[in-house]
Amino acid sequence: MVLSKKVHEALNKQINKEFQSAYIYLAMAAYFDSIYLRGFRHWMEAQAKEEVHHGMKIYEHILERDSTVVLQPIQAPALAWKSPLDAVTAAYKHEQEVTKSIHQIVDVAQAEHDHTTEVFLQWFVNEQVEEEDATLELLKRVTLAGNEGAGLLLLDAELAKRE
Ligand code: MG
Repeated sequence: MVLSKKVHEALNKQINKEFQSAYIYLAMAAYFDSIYLRGFRHWMEAQAKEEVHHGMKIYEHILERDSTVVLQPIQAPALAWKSPLDAVTAAYKHEQEVTKSIHQIVDVAQAEHDHTTEVFLQWFVNEQVEEEDATLELLKRVTLAGNEGAGLLLLDAELAKRE
């Protein structure tokens, strides 16, 4: 069954947001590489890949619903941050925005009585709990480390292990 105009529009916008997220995390990965925190770089690159996966899931849902994928330009992300704390704070805030956006699409799907999209979006609702939790944990731990070399290097070694 073809998507309603409102759900269609909201899902296409969300594809853009997910790829935008991938760009933001890639930019953060490059930033962390530039300050020799390569475990952070690895973590951010893994995060970027997840975002592409999120975008592709929505892409697939739109096609399965016999609707058109409308790809929009991806906004350029920031390229540098003042400190690791500044970057991970931005990451956490970004995930909070994405959560809001997902919840808004659930509202649209409910209003349009699109039960399929509503069920489809439950995966994203749960995923956002994890995304916020992971970025908040990172933010808290960078806060604990302060901007001190030793603490950040310990955390960096741990982040390098992310699958
Ligand atoms: Mg995402």
